[in-house]
Amino acid sequence: MANEGKRGAILVLSGPSGAGKSTIIHAASREIGEYYFSISTTTRPPREGEVHGREYFFVSKEEFEEDIKAGNFLEYAKVHGNYYGTSLKPVREALKEGKLVIFDIDVQGHRLVRAKMNDITTSAFITPPTLHELEKRLRERSTDAEEVIARRIENAKEEIRAVGEYDFTIINDTIEEAAEEFVIVAKAARLKQSEEDEARFIACWLGEG
Ligand code: ADP
Ligand code: 5GP
Repeated sequence: MANEGKRGAILVLSGPSGAGKSTIIHAASREIGEYYFSISTTTRPPREGEVHGREYFFVSKEEFEEDIKAGNFLEYAKVHGNYYGTSLKPVREALKEGKLVIFDIDVQGHRLVRAKMNDITTSAFITPPTLHELEKRLRERSTDAEEVIARRIENAKEEIRAVGEYDFTIINDTIEEAAEEFVIVAKAARLKQSEEDEARFIACWLGEG
């Protein structure tokens, strides 16, 4: 009854590149029910194995800047020297359908989403146990050149300082445990009601709805 006509909810995941965000979402995907994963647009070149429209929409700097001008992004930021952004339209549609919308965005993006949609947003910061472990995993993933890895490590040292801005922290030590925690966070995100839903629930509870 309380869920009748409920709007969707947003779950923001951030954490250094190589933290295990994709791995955890993949491992938990069967347990978290229906969700919409927001596919970002980026100007960074695809890594080996990445597919346009699956991991990202890969576009040129000019195309990205056109989209900025047209107001097509819910949020965008420059990360590691490339543009990354979340398109507004598919997110709006998924929310209208009452879905849980999952974002994998950086700390700047999280702040922007909070500023615009705080009342339906839950967030989690995902990180390996230590910087040393992050470095090891980035090297083992072997998808990035050494200078790219070095830049990501430098970025991670800054990003970790934003950990306190998030509702939850997930330490990705073993994939199994991190995925279990992620399932709990996703369930909590679904339970978050917007002020609008709350007002409707109270009216209904009082028999005024
Ligand atoms: P992100 O999406 O945050 O950039 P990935 O999911 O690509 O990170 O993970 C980075 C690398 O670390 C991948 O090679 C992945 O297989 C590995 N990895 C992820 N979680 C763990 C873990 N708990 N233990 C060991 N390696 C992991
Ligand atoms: P990667 O190049 O490793 O895929 O991602 C680099 C960083 O960009 C990660 O921290 C990731 O969360 C962030 N990112 C990916 N998409 C977006 C987006 O649409 N907006 C913002 N602000 N950050 C993003």
